[in-house]
Amino acid sequence: MSASHTIDAIAAGVEAASRAPASNAGQISEQRRQSVRRAAEAPELVTIRNLKMYFPVTEGALLPRTVAHVKAVDDISFSIRKGETLGLVGESGCGKTTTGRCILQLEHATGGEIIYDGRNLIGLDRKSMLALRQKIQVIFQDPYSSLNPRMKIGDIIAEPMKVHRTEPDKAARIARVRELLRLCGLDPRFADRYPHEMSGGQRQRVGIARALSVRPEFIICDEAISALDVSIQAQIINLLEDLRDEFDLTYLFIAHDLSVVRHLCHRVAVMYLGKIVELAECDELYSDPLHPYTQALLAAVPVPDPEVERKRAHKIVKGEVPSPINPPSGCVFHPRCELANESCSRIVPQFRELKPDHWVACSLV
Ligand code: SF4
Repeated sequence: MSASHTIDAIAAGVEAASRAPASNAGQISEQRRQSVRRAAEAPELVTIRNLKMYFPVTEGALLPRTVAHVKAVDDISFSIRKGETLGLVGESGCGKTTTGRCILQLEHATGGEIIYDGRNLIGLDRKSMLALRQKIQVIFQDPYSSLNPRMKIGDIIAEPMKVHRTEPDKAARIARVRELLRLCGLDPRFADRYPHEMSGGQRQRVGIARALSVRPEFIICDEAISALDVSIQAQIINLLEDLRDEFDLTYLFIAHDLSVVRHLCHRVAVMYLGKIVELAECDELYSDPLHPYTQALLAAVPVPDPEVERKRAHKIVKGEVPSPINPPSGCVFHPRCELANESCSRIVPQFRELKPDHWVACSLV
């Protein structure tokens, strides 16, 4: 998504694409408040404790030896409550996609725990994991490359039902495919088309229908709207929200841009160089960001009104993201932080709850 995409553009698109008229704005915000309250009171479905994912860097072709590690995810902890949408946001390479892949067991974590509905996924045998994979589904960023171009849409959506044997009867599978296409806003006749005959937004709807086909509880949306136009992003966000409410789904919504998560997410976690630096309820994070990195991310989102935009103070994060092979000492953000003092390069900041349910990893706030 380009930098010109703004919170307001997405929000305006979401509102325009929603079915409620503008006069219902108060009702919508009351619904949102209730949804946030419900999510805050729900039990935890996913609990991540001290998760680490270090990738070895090897040297030597014949006898490779490990000379360093890429610390893609470095000791992070968070939870996702049942029915909640947690946004996981940060720049490319911060470890958010790796976190999602660890939950899906596509990567074998170096350490920590991933508790799903009371069971630790790390070390779970293949058979048990396959059974759980029915409940944990994923929607990928690129709807084109994630769909097999040689398969018809109907077969693509039916495939998980065959793998997990949730719909052994062929006629029932066909009926379910048609129902899923309708649910995702597509004509059931699209079942006979191929992916290249559809637009990007339609293909992403197919990706969502495929994820829903086995009646999951938890869906990881990995940059699920990043490759789409702003107006299509708004439609997909609305669709995901409707489906969450209808089927009591829980989402981990991974995005690199804070502007896209505001409408859908209940809470947002901000990641930087393998660590979570701030975690708070969505509106709280946008109104009172406490970590210098979150403040800079929010300040970098342009406002569409040129007058307001001219008067805004712009905080630019200086420098490049350091290498995760050799991350900075102390606070990993210190080489780029404008508030850093001498202690920041020595002391690793604790992840502390500074306000109710608002967690920050910065020693100076
Ligand atoms: Fe900046 Fe220091 Fe806070 Fe890190 S601990 S975010 S370097 S002020």
